[in-house]
Amino acid sequence: MSARQIQIKSALDKVRTELKPGVELIAVTKNFPISDLEILYSLGERQFGENRENELSLKTEALPKDINWHFQGTLQSNKLRAIVSVASYIHSLDELRHASKISELALEMGKKQSCFIQVNLDPDEIANQESNRSGIKPAKFVAFAQSLLELSGVEIVGVMGVAPLDKDPRPGFETLRNLKEELLKMAPGAGYISSGMSGDYQIAMEYGATHIRLGSSILGQR
Ligand SMILES: *Cc1c(COP(=O)(O)O)cnc(C)c1O
Repeated sequence: MSARQIQIKSALDKVRTELKPGVELIAVTKNFPISDLEILYSLGERQFGENRENELSLKTEALPKDINWHFQGTLQSNKLRAIVSVASYIHSLDELRHASKISELALEMGKKQSCFIQVNLDPDEIANQESNRSGIKPAKFVAFAQSLLELSGVEIVGVMGVAPLDKDPRPGFETLRNLKEELLKMAPGAGYISSGMSGDYQIAMEYGATHIRLGSSILGQR
């Protein structure tokens, strides 16, 4: 094995031993070369997360077809067709206009697009000032979810969040868990929680994460 293979294998083995039963590990491969994804594939990884459409498209072309691709970056209208054509899951749905377009495209392609609803987990005082953070605000969650559930090309599978950096992630994870319960009342199948990154995934799993998205803890800094 090459030095890089050994490095990735030991990091991946460590994370795998820490996974709670039933938790799906998504290897976040954004900004990493195709050679790293091939190593992950050879080690049995089949869930890959990407943030940009162009990178996603290049990588899906280059890698085997039995991979599930998770799109978790900011959505842009003109990129939705390319994303829907390859993504198993979209984690970053937070606008109705994108959802309508995704639904339309999915129906055209003969599929249903599985999506998580992204929630803004910043405390109110931050969320109100900095509108650049992604995600629907918790106060608007139920109404937003209701309108999404009317779209026949979209399958809502759960909630997604990014805990605020350099703060205790617990209140955010608690919010996410509560909103998942609200969602389940409207959509009995939508019980997934996508939360937890390299710095907080152990805590996220304590709060019921079903999908954790790990980049640097598997692939290092880049
Ligand atoms: C980059 C990214 C991750 C992975 O972050 P790490 O800290 O490297 O594990 C997870 N989720 C989202 C939305 C990201 O953009």
